[in-house]
Amino acid sequence: MSFCENCGITLPYPSTSPQCPQCGYPRRGATSPLNLSIATVLCFFLGGLGVHRFYAGKIVTAIIMLLTLGGFGIWTAIDLIYLICGKFTDSKGFPINYIGAPRLAIVLICIFLFIVLALIVFTVYGIYVI
Ligand SMILES: [Zn+2]
Repeated sequence: MSFCENCGITLPYPSTSPQCPQCGYPRRGATSPLNLSIATVLCFFLGGLGVHRFYAGKIVTAIIMLLTLGGFGIWTAIDLIYLICGKFTDSKGFPINYIGAPRLAIVLICIFLFIVLALIVFTVYGIYVI
């Protein structure tokens, strides 16, 4: 059981909404209804195009990211770390924390994919040098 800090009504718990249904006040500890797994995968594969920011509703920064190719990869890498840590927020400022799979699984998948990607890049580069 929890109460709205603004209007005092009783709120259902766990809630599917990050805001009070009566007054719209943000709930303490409220999280975004968006799925962290989807956001993380989008960031990993299409982060350079800002797709995870479009997903989060951060349209302005998404377009900037698209135009700068993810801040030359650095911005995307920072976003990915924020996502994995559960600190990435949606357009309303709520952390995207809801997760379909265990967080450890996402971390391991990302590490695995990164290694595969690195191997592909090094292999292609190696062939190019030879
Ligand atoms: Zn309220």
